[in-house]
Amino acid sequence: MRILFLGAPGAGKGTQCKRLSAKLSLPHLSSGDLLREAVKAGTPAGVQAKEYMDKGVLVPDEVLIEMFKEKLSSAECKNGFILDGFPRNLSQAKSLDELLVSLNSGLSTVINLDVDDSFLTERICGRWTCGNKACAAVYHVKFAPPKVQGKCDVCSSDLTQRADDKEELVKARLNTYREQTEPLIQYYTEKKLLKTVSGEGDQDAIFNNLLQSLQVTA
Ligand code: AMP
Repeated sequence: MRILFLGAPGAGKGTQCKRLSAKLSLPHLSSGDLLREAVKAGTPAGVQAKEYMDKGVLVPDEVLIEMFKEKLSSAECKNGFILDGFPRNLSQAKSLDELLVSLNSGLSTVINLDVDDSFLTERICGRWTCGNKACAAVYHVKFAPPKVQGKCDVCSSDLTQRADDKEELVKARLNTYREQTEPLIQYYTEKKLLKTVSGEGDQDAIFNNLLQSLQVTA
């Protein structure tokens, strides 16, 4: 299966994609995670990306397209993939179409994880992630707190907050989503690929709805 996730920042794409990746044994390709790794490693792409990420706006398309060309052509993706955060605008979506045609494949389904605006800021600003990359468990101060404050339940590593999950940047990120990414809902609806799943409520229930819409047995 070749699955793409759409959804506003804070909709829970990362959490659900991780679960789905484990369930279907497919690689989870998160553009945000790949960019954060590049920033941390100080690669030329990372250095370029950082100034945009720090403002909550989109990194130039060429950086993302190059990154995903390499990933999607690799052996890791030969049986399918789960895309999270790419594409993020119409021009990236068209580049992805071209790339998939050149690889003789196409998307199976696009999931729109739908969450009402009123929940997003609180969800994002309370989010903490395990600093151990191999674990990367996600917590929320209010909705899913760790047992010991600041420590991961799974591996006891320190929890960290993403630099762009601070309130002053969240507004910019949500505006970017509305202006540039939301039009993709229409784009994939017209291609008859879009399925909407509610991202509100209990995480297990959301995951079960997701499996149902992908016609995967739980
Ligand atoms: P995310 O973790 O998906 O919320 O992404 C964090 C930041 O990375 C975004 O605010 C953008 O600055 C950048 N980013 C992630 N994906 C893309 C993309 N497909 N195109 C451009 N910038 C992106």
